[in-house]
Amino acid sequence: MSTENQELRKAGLKVTLPRVKILQILDNAVENGLHLSAEDVYKALLEAGDDVGLATVYRVLTQFEAAGLVERHNFEGGYSVFEMARDEHHDHMVCAVTGEVIEFYDADIERLQKEVAKKHGFELVNHSLVLYVKPLKTP
Ligand SMILES: [Zn+2]
Repeated sequence: MSTENQELRKAGLKVTLPRVKILQILDNAVENGLHLSAEDVYKALLEAGDDVGLATVYRVLTQFEAAGLVERHNFEGGYSVFEMARDEHHDHMVCAVTGEVIEFYDADIERLQKEVAKKHGFELVNHSLVLYVKPLKTP
């Protein structure tokens, strides 16, 4: 049984061909540090010669999100990107010029967020941090 089949079953989803194909694309994207839009997934399927419609891609991605298999990020600019859910936390920056999504983890920022919440009488349970950036001008 393939990794994708196991992942689907573990998430409580029936194994179907479109689900396996889409999961394969997302699994491979993680290795390249990529965050894919539904259109990116659709294009990758087309390139691989797989006949899966865009509506199916949207539906499967929504099912994956509901099952906790993938995370959806709604970055500014009006479209969502998807990535495989992972145990390790990370934040994102998005380049306003190229649209590139960069992952980062900064222990100081993580600590400061907890401290800020505590100062306001709360315990931090979750956060989502997106920095919108542009390339530094090189002199
Ligand atoms: Zn990410």
